[in-house]
Amino acid sequence: MSGHVGHDGGRFPDQVLDQGLDQVRGEVWALHAELVRYGLVAWTSGNISARVPGSDLIVIKPSGVAYDGLTPDSMVVCDIEGHRVSGSLNPSSDTGAHAYIYRHMPEVGGVAHTHSAYATAWAARGEPIPCLLTAIADEFGGEIPVGPFALIGGDEIGRGVVATLTGHRSPAVLMRSHGVFAIGPTARDAVQAAVMCEDAARTVHLARAYGAPEPLPADQIDALHERYTRHYGQR
Ligand SMILES: [Zn+2]
Repeated sequence: MSGHVGHDGGRFPDQVLDQGLDQVRGEVWALHAELVRYGLVAWTSGNISARVPGSDLIVIKPSGVAYDGLTPDSMVVCDIEGHRVSGSLNPSSDTGAHAYIYRHMPEVGGVAHTHSAYATAWAARGEPIPCLLTAIADEFGGEIPVGPFALIGGDEIGRGVVATLTGHRSPAVLMRSHGVFAIGPTARDAVQAAVMCEDAARTVHLARAYGAPEPLPADQIDALHERYTRHYGQR
């Protein structure tokens, strides 16, 4: 093969694609350590993927490998349909869901999935996390929505994620009776959304335990989200 067909139909020299692949493998591997660091995963649950720029390839965690045993080279390269194209390990059992999201949301460059405890408790109840705090308005622009129950393996989870998040400000969805799927322009953004989703779930749970806090007014949520997405941080 002398090159790989990119999403714009152009061809990328193998050398450029290989460099890009190595970089994305390293990034996706390193981000998995953040899931452990923030306490979002138990045993081998949870996974992260990224789109390889300039190609129709994605890089994703291998299935059932302990977090301590992950290496950059163990990250699995799949095509946009979710089929493995290189590596010896099987990709995550959630690869079909990730691939569906990349096919239907071209603006998405990364996906993170966890069963983090507090957020998954909201998913178990099928209850959206209300926007009670400035940090939730900043990051999610409103409540964190609930997506449908879906079986693992095929397109069903991906369909639910895309249906819920398309046109929604929130980069995270609580898939009913399952857990969190978070998206972003990069894999790092998706992981940030997964971390902040768990933080919101825990804080609102604690607030609810001792009182009946009110959601922020819609105009304040809009103002906070606007400021955060346009002006916050180093630009
Ligand atoms: Zn899961």
